[in-house]
Amino acid sequence: MKMKTLDGEQLDLPQDVVDGLKSRLRGPVLTPADAGYEDARTVWNAMIDRRPALVVRCLGTADVVECVRLARERNLLLCIKGGGHNIAGLAVADGALMLDMSLMRGVWVDPRERVARAQAGCVLGDVDRETQLHGLASVMGFVSLTGITGLTLGGGIGYLTRRWGWTSDNVGGMDVVTADGRLVRASTDDNADLFWALRGGGGNFGVVTGIDYVLHRLGPEMVGGVVAWPASEAPKVLDLYRTLAQSAPPELTLVALMRPAPPAPWLPRERHGTPIVALLACYTGDPGEGEKAVTPIKSFGKPIGDVIVRRPYAQMQSLLDATPPEGRRSYWKSEYLPRIEPGLTEAVMREAAKIRSPHSAVILFQLDGALNRLGPDHSAVGNRDARYLLNIAGSWERPDDDAANIEWARNAWREMRRFSTGGTYINFLTEDDGAERTEAALGGSLERLAQVKSRWDPQNFFRTNRNIRPA
Ligand SMILES: Cc1cc2nc3c(=O)[nH]c(=O)nc-3n(C[C@H](O)[C@H](O)[C@H](O)COP(=O)(O)OP(=O)(O)OC[C@H]3O[C@@H](n4cnc5c(N)ncnc54)[C@H](O)[C@@H]3O)c2cc1C
Repeated sequence: MKMKTLDGEQLDLPQDVVDGLKSRLRGPVLTPADAGYEDARTVWNAMIDRRPALVVRCLGTADVVECVRLARERNLLLCIKGGGHNIAGLAVADGALMLDMSLMRGVWVDPRERVARAQAGCVLGDVDRETQLHGLASVMGFVSLTGITGLTLGGGIGYLTRRWGWTSDNVGGMDVVTADGRLVRASTDDNADLFWALRGGGGNFGVVTGIDYVLHRLGPEMVGGVVAWPASEAPKVLDLYRTLAQSAPPELTLVALMRPAPPAPWLPRERHGTPIVALLACYTGDPGEGEKAVTPIKSFGKPIGDVIVRRPYAQMQSLLDATPPEGRRSYWKSEYLPRIEPGLTEAVMREAAKIRSPHSAVILFQLDGALNRLGPDHSAVGNRDARYLLNIAGSWERPDDDAANIEWARNAWREMRRFSTGGTYINFLTEDDGAERTEAALGGSLERLAQVKSRWDPQNFFRTNRNIRPA
């Protein structure tokens, strides 16, 4: 079996070694000739087309330990796939031994302790589904099919961020297989340096096999959804967004976006493909208060569609699932913003008008609130000054359209970058974002992260990520 080493060289792994590994695992091992290999190597962004030499679909922590030990012994390049949603495709590497964690999707909820223990292959919806049975929730992201582990290791933002911070602020502990093949616990009481680094510093320090999430009482009913207007209304709608967001309580999260209207059933057919401006609102406190909070949005101008209603929280969490489906080509640029300025909203309108595909969007996520409260000592995630996140999200279908769409996203980014805090979101970085963008994302945490790396992974075994080299 031809494999790649950590040094980028070719190595012929003898068949008896592969057979030996198979015999020690519970989960299946796939080579390029096996059914299921193509599915396992495929990630959300169709721009990524890489071929690991061997895929192990882990069925438990012991499978992970076996693979890490073999990779260390043979100097093999290792990569780890969770939900496969990383836009840069960090989960897959050519010639590597790939751990596919997606069969490990158990979630156990302890309602008394308010903790959910989730296996590392879960997607966000797995956790929401089980925790909502108890009227509880943790901070997950906006699209329920995203993997929990990649999201949490890079921070994680969603509708609950303003109330309870980053997803990674809501982690009580993690189980981790380290570079020397040991299973360790990371929490404030156990290996606190590792725990600090894992919350924002990415998959640089080990293979996470389980995450404990702190839960909060929430729902199941809340008020949320989206309202859309023609793009001609954007000056007034974005101004409304700016004003409402400034005074919104932590229970209310608002997202503004401009894009061609998707073919959604709640939008009139004749509007599909025409430019729109939309506001997403999610109020997770008392539904009666929520209805009052969203009235200024629902009663504003003449919307072409309005689906802000009382609905179950778990439904709100999957409301956006259909708009960015797996298998499209994607290229993003993102910046954290300290505020929404008139100059920025003008640029959003100008750049949205130049969108080259029916699927692309310019999005403003509201953050702020609890995200801004903790200090840098809490965890590596940083960017506690972020109040909004700008995402220039290029999305299209045909490889022939790559150049035009990438050019659009880059130009739009150049125009809007000046409004940034200087920080960017590590989980939204693309394949061509280099070390300086990792630096912008991790800023003040980099030095300390390098020290933790020296302690836990001095040979830089975990390197197919936003890599931090040992100090
Ligand atoms: C449609 C879409 C919606 C999104 N929405 C949000 C959102 O609302 N909020 C938000 O914060 N982010 C969001 N993201 C970004 C998302 O957080 C990142 O893409 C994240 O990396 C996805 O994690 P994953 O497990 O799905 O990815 P993968 O591609 O599987 O992995 C990403 C990285 O994490 C590492 N990793 C995965 N599992 C493990 C493990 N068990 N142990 C160690 N390392 C591991 C991988 O090696 C890789 O480096 C979204 C992305 C997409 C494409």
